[in-house]
Amino acid sequence: MPRARHPKKAIEAALAELEAAGWTIAPTASGHRWGVARCADSSRSGCQVSIWSTPRSPDNHARQLRRALDRCIHISERDSDT
Ligand SMILES: [Zn+2]
Repeated sequence: MPRARHPKKAIEAALAELEAAGWTIAPTASGHRWGVARCADSSRSGCQVSIWSTPRSPDNHARQLRRALDRCIHISERDSDT
């Protein structure tokens, strides 16, 4: 099932990057939380970030999501490029 697209373009772009890195985007049913992103480690020690539907600054929120991706130390299949 394809996931719903985020209405804010900047955030949708960040979500696509997270997915490419092996993260899972799970929509939430209601509230101002649009969904939640989880890293490749699905255990309790894995990363988890809330995705807001209408953040005051979509650009800032997108940056925040990318930062979570940068900080993640859990392994996905992606090659290290550092
Ligand atoms: Zn992680």
